[in-house]
Amino acid sequence: MHRGNKSQGRSGKNCSRPPGLKGRDIGMYYRNLSRQRKNSDTKYELKINLSCDVSVPPGVIERINEYMDQFKVAREAGNKHLDEDFQQKFHHMLSMNFDGFIEETKKQNQDLNLQNRSLDAHLLDKQNELFQNVDFRARYEDRMKLPTMGHAAEIIDAVDKNQVLLIVGSTGCGKTTQVPQLLLDDCIAKGIGSTCRIVCTQPRRISAITVAERVSYERVEPIGHSVGYQIRLESRKPRERASITYCTTGVLLQQLQSDPLLRSVSVLLLDEIHERSIETDLLMALLKIILPHRPTLKVILMSATVREEDFCNYFNRCPMFRIEGVMHPVEVFYLEDVLAMTGYQFDCRSNKRSRPWLDQSDHRIMIEPYIRQVRDRYDTKVLEQLRVPHSEGCEDIEFIASLIYYICNNKSDGAILVFVPGFSKISQLHNTLKNPRSPLGQRWRNHLLIFPLHSMLPSVEQQSVFRPAPKGKRKVIISTIIAETSVTIDDVVYVINTGRTKVTDYDIETNIQSLEECWVTHANTQQRKGRAGRVQPGVCYNLFSRAREALMSEVPTPEILRCKLEAIILSLKVLHIDDPYALFQTMIDPPVQRTVSTAINLLKRIEALDIDGKLTPLGMHLAKLPIDPQVGKMILISALFRCVDPITSVAAALSYKNPFYTPLGQEQRVDQAKRRMAQGMHSDHLMIHNTICNYRESVENHRDRDFCYNNFLSHMTLQQLERMKSQFSELLSNYKFLNSTNCLDHSSNINSGKIPLLRAIIGGGLYPNMAHLRKARQIKNRVRAIHNMTTDDGRRVNFHPSSVNSGETGFDSNYFVYYQRQKSTDLYLLDATMVFPMALIIFGDGVETGVVDNRHYLSVAQTYYFKCSPETVSVVLNLRSSLQLLLLEKALHPAPIEQNSDADKLIKSIELLLSIDDKMGDDYEIMSDEIDNI
Ligand code: ADP
Ligand code: MG
Repeated sequence: MHRGNKSQGRSGKNCSRPPGLKGRDIGMYYRNLSRQRKNSDTKYELKINLSCDVSVPPGVIERINEYMDQFKVAREAGNKHLDEDFQQKFHHMLSMNFDGFIEETKKQNQDLNLQNRSLDAHLLDKQNELFQNVDFRARYEDRMKLPTMGHAAEIIDAVDKNQVLLIVGSTGCGKTTQVPQLLLDDCIAKGIGSTCRIVCTQPRRISAITVAERVSYERVEPIGHSVGYQIRLESRKPRERASITYCTTGVLLQQLQSDPLLRSVSVLLLDEIHERSIETDLLMALLKIILPHRPTLKVILMSATVREEDFCNYFNRCPMFRIEGVMHPVEVFYLEDVLAMTGYQFDCRSNKRSRPWLDQSDHRIMIEPYIRQVRDRYDTKVLEQLRVPHSEGCEDIEFIASLIYYICNNKSDGAILVFVPGFSKISQLHNTLKNPRSPLGQRWRNHLLIFPLHSMLPSVEQQSVFRPAPKGKRKVIISTIIAETSVTIDDVVYVINTGRTKVTDYDIETNIQSLEECWVTHANTQQRKGRAGRVQPGVCYNLFSRAREALMSEVPTPEILRCKLEAIILSLKVLHIDDPYALFQTMIDPPVQRTVSTAINLLKRIEALDIDGKLTPLGMHLAKLPIDPQVGKMILISALFRCVDPITSVAAALSYKNPFYTPLGQEQRVDQAKRRMAQGMHSDHLMIHNTICNYRESVENHRDRDFCYNNFLSHMTLQQLERMKSQFSELLSNYKFLNSTNCLDHSSNINSGKIPLLRAIIGGGLYPNMAHLRKARQIKNRVRAIHNMTTDDGRRVNFHPSSVNSGETGFDSNYFVYYQRQKSTDLYLLDATMVFPMALIIFGDGVETGVVDNRHYLSVAQTYYFKCSPETVSVVLNLRSSLQLLLLEKALHPAPIEQNSDADKLIKSIELLLSIDDKMGDDYEIMSDEIDNI
């Protein structure tokens, strides 16, 4: 075979180096050249050189064959039955187009549209009674102060006359709480209450709950009467007719799967559409398809004042109703002003610490001209502080605390609302305020009532944030972006805006999606400022300079342009929208074709879609799970293989976050803690599982505080992970894949101790995110080994320094799976698990077999080729096809696998095959003392 042309050496004429290189650069040039060449050589070699031998010992093959013989008989019988069933049930469903789907469902849900006259009369009586109720009247008087109520008659009239209406109003003017009530009460008063079913979508779980509770309170009812909420895995539904349901946008999208024309809804309110979440954008596009089929459905779009024209145009210039809010004036200060007020000085030693987003030179380019501009207005001390790159945003938590104390010292009563980017900053500021080091902090500690506000916090803790503070206390609400528009806390007078937020970002080139902290936009800043002027004139402190503000963008980029699309495409497929690309084209901002095709390709590779792009039964189940399809597949497989506890731990951490935090300067100690937890398993994922097990043990021994503290673990995150694990096992048991809703149930965890199996299942889920380690080199005088590794798209990667695999040698296998890659100085695998080749062969796609130089091989995705005995080839192919059949059957008839059933035998055979992997890395080298070749 032809190999890379080696004759073009250093002196070869095709290799003249670029002119102008000097000294060290010449060396670097040749080094890079030689590396590139080596890279392309190895890539080429892969095709011709078979990797390690995956042949299975004859004894094992015999045992597997025994199992399989028994299984075969059953399978042949089952096959026929499966085929018929498939034709009848799934094939019909999966191959139906959208119009057919609509026709089918038109026959259902009709009865709810019929008027019920006796109910109407009853509702009217009750309404009259309610309007006499003393509490109701008192609350009603308060409601009347809201700007929305001043327009009640006009809103009702506009809804009456139009199918689609856009209501725009500043945050807090009463859109979310009042508009649904107006419409409900109007229907009841007109004697048609029984036909009224209002659904109002909310972007987040917490707003759905708090708003529903608020509206119930206003109506002097417990929740679940005329008003209720529905969020994933938690609902307090209202009565069927004459009702208002606040639900998350995701829940409504799910509801479309069984009720695509929304026949169970008479008025749909899409709230907070200005946020431009994928879900509201998508719902708007779907509504354009639905509306012609549902002439009686009323749609009300509600938005804060952000680019509202876009929505109006999108719905053919639908009528727009503006509600002017009463806003008190808000005084705005910037970083330079705050520094002048507080006299705060930053600790410049922390300047050198690594903060990837802080680019010192960018900061200088921005700040120096500005400093020249304002040097007459500010003290030189202030200007010096402005030069410190970490003066901006929320890098210095002590600074934010000192501003809070400054307000306490100098300003009149009123709650303080602090906007920070995310959970970890919330908890840092919370800790700083609770355990202050400065005398000033100690003085105010007991005067502060601190409320963390975050979408992941349990909802019970969040209601008290709305209550006024008792005398002598001051509320401090530390919140993410959720307090910007979707949660209104009335008594806020002071807003501290760090200007930072977290957004997902998607890089189409590397196909990497990440959650990154970044600067907010003008639109966000405007909203945040508005939160201070709700009840009286307020103050907004922006912790960034005016120079920074000048660089901010106008509005946030719509989420659909910043995300991977796998999950959303799956949900469209379930709605029988065959051509997602065509639907995307009808959206306000369509994503680019390449993002769509990348996503479709991945869905095909994980077998959620078939080669024609049709949904498979597996895809159908993955669409129902509220997580990334790859992680969803991982937990489905874990249910079949009965190792639910470890794998749901992995899935929770991948879907939410890693429980470790890294205080600045403590990176090494955190590293050590992680490595202790990893127990040499070479897996960041199993490390999480071990951590959760150890955490549970510490809880039992009442040592959890110490345990978390000593190991740099966030208690809150661990608790959240436990909650998510319960949610996953509840879902799996609802879908009948498990017997129990408890993820620790014995029947769901028979194989939870088998580490090679766990590895394989993590591999089965994260596939095709694979990496191949070619070399681990221990270079002289370097503590850690460096790795020569590529992902399956041929890109060179390394383990991220925070991965437990970073710098390690001595792996038993040189194949890895990962969930996230990150591009910073290099391309990194943020998390990785070492897997044995057999896991890729069993769970991978494009598995082929062939003969090269008289040797049999098995290959995965035409990327990795493994030597393999013909006996093993036949067993493996047999197991693969049986597993596929089992998955299909389980998708058709979800049920836990019974002990000693045929399926159980198959699972046991695969388990056996996956468990025998050991030391297979014969093409894996560790080279000690190797020195770079220049
Ligand atoms: P909008 O949707 O226009 O932003 P809302 O309808 O959410 O406004 O809120 C209107 C008013 O209702 C708020 O200004 C606040 O006074 C009150 N409110 C809303 N939710 C709650 C709650 N959970 N607890 C107390 N008051 C609330
Ligand atoms: Mg609202």
